[in-house]
Amino acid sequence: MKNIIDLIVIGAGPAGLMTAKRAAELGLKVTIIELKKDITHIKRACSAQFVTDEGYENETIKIEDNKIIFTKNRFYINYTGRLLNIINNYHHSPSGHKLHLSHPDHRPFAIKFDKGHLLADLWRDCEKLGVKLLLETVAYRGKDLGDHVRIDIRNHKKTSSILAKKLVIAEGANAKLTGLFGLNKGRVLHGTPFVFSCIIEGATGFEPQSWNQFYGSKYHPFAEVIIESAIEGNDAIELTIMGTRNLRPDVLFEKFIKDSPMKYHFTNAHVIERRGCSLKSYDSLQKPYIGNVLAIGDSAAHVEVIVQGALMCGYHAANAINDELIGINGFEKYTSWWNKSFNFNHTNPLEFVNLYSSLAMRPKYSDEELDYMFSLLEGTSICGNFSQFEVPKNIWKAILSHKDQIQSEKPALFEKIKNIDKLNQEGKLN
Ligand SMILES: Cc1cc2nc3c(=O)[nH]c(=O)nc-3n(C[C@H](O)[C@H](O)[C@H](O)COP(=O)(O)OP(=O)(O)OC[C@H]3O[C@@H](n4cnc5c(N)ncnc54)[C@H](O)[C@@H]3O)c2cc1C
Repeated sequence: MKNIIDLIVIGAGPAGLMTAKRAAELGLKVTIIELKKDITHIKRACSAQFVTDEGYENETIKIEDNKIIFTKNRFYINYTGRLLNIINNYHHSPSGHKLHLSHPDHRPFAIKFDKGHLLADLWRDCEKLGVKLLLETVAYRGKDLGDHVRIDIRNHKKTSSILAKKLVIAEGANAKLTGLFGLNKGRVLHGTPFVFSCIIEGATGFEPQSWNQFYGSKYHPFAEVIIESAIEGNDAIELTIMGTRNLRPDVLFEKFIKDSPMKYHFTNAHVIERRGCSLKSYDSLQKPYIGNVLAIGDSAAHVEVIVQGALMCGYHAANAINDELIGINGFEKYTSWWNKSFNFNHTNPLEFVNLYSSLAMRPKYSDEELDYMFSLLEGTSICGNFSQFEVPKNIWKAILSHKDQIQSEKPALFEKIKNIDKLNQEGKLN
């Protein structure tokens, strides 16, 4: 068919670039559409850490010889940028009691990377394979015409259309085109948090190679504040704070550094980079395709697939497109892999929200209750697995190992955590 390429990919994030790279390796003609001017310049909040838990999202990644190796999905990507091992995970109560999560052998539970560099490495491979990238171009509309798809694009004020046999939507969490193609129909929107993050130099008192979460109303009205070692330099930290449209995270950030018990750590600090995003938290798509269109990565997810998951999605999406083009039902194969691999696809969204908000521990627990619970575990080490599904379970298990003491010393608190205990007994926290 004239002027119809094999594949259009919307979005040059990790999912889109990986799709394009793999599809081009399989011999397909691919064009990526990306609204940014420079894909290596990261403006969206992202802690950029690989999670190294065994079996996380059905994968165990290894990093060797400038390669990120996906040992179970059996592929790798080149990565020549910096890495930073994160080995200690601390959760701080309002008065400074600490929970400590780590592996006994001090192996990292997360490895920070330079996301811009990773995308640059991926794009270099795509370019060598003949992938076309349209920058500063927004895909704003499209139609599935049965035997091919039309995508309408705008570059500055100039509009045009591109035709392809198949379309992969890798546009990230806000999932607009995903909706335009009908895939968000019936999909519940759980909320739209706003996130602010920044890289700070000159802050004092933070342990190198650590991840820290601060809980309690002294720090934030309803969520934890995250401070982690940054890849930008030895004394640099990355601070991430959540908010809402009305309670903006950048305002909460100013309060945290100027008017919280942490303010002394920021006396000589200066922000060297600011990032942010709003984040639509939809239900995950159980069937992420329709006609000739497949939605992958964050576009199809409940919570972030994170970069390693986005790469896995891209790899399998390209294989699926290749199968579809030779008459095999690749989209079904992709769907079965997608549903099996990601934890949020087999966790009831409500159960997940319950666990997740238990992790935040505010506003359900008073500062005094948080201090009490954290003090019970002072000096002990909790399993270092870092998956967002594992951390709350492991923390609650450790707290509930003091159940009898809590019941006798703090009966009102015990009443509050009884439900979590029940989840535990039902095996849902195991
Ligand atoms: C606060 C926070 C912390 C995080 N921490 C981590 C972490 O520690 N480790 C980790 O691995 N991940 C982390 N993530 C998640 C990670 O950033 C995402 O899961 C990952 O980037 C998803 O990749 P993606 O390719 O699906 O989407 P994205 O990375 O969002 O890429 C989508 C691309 O599509 C482009 N685009 C969108 N719409 C259009 C359009 N209409 N036309 C053209 N282009 C378009 C965008 O400009 C963007 O480049 C974090 C995220 C947040 C919010």
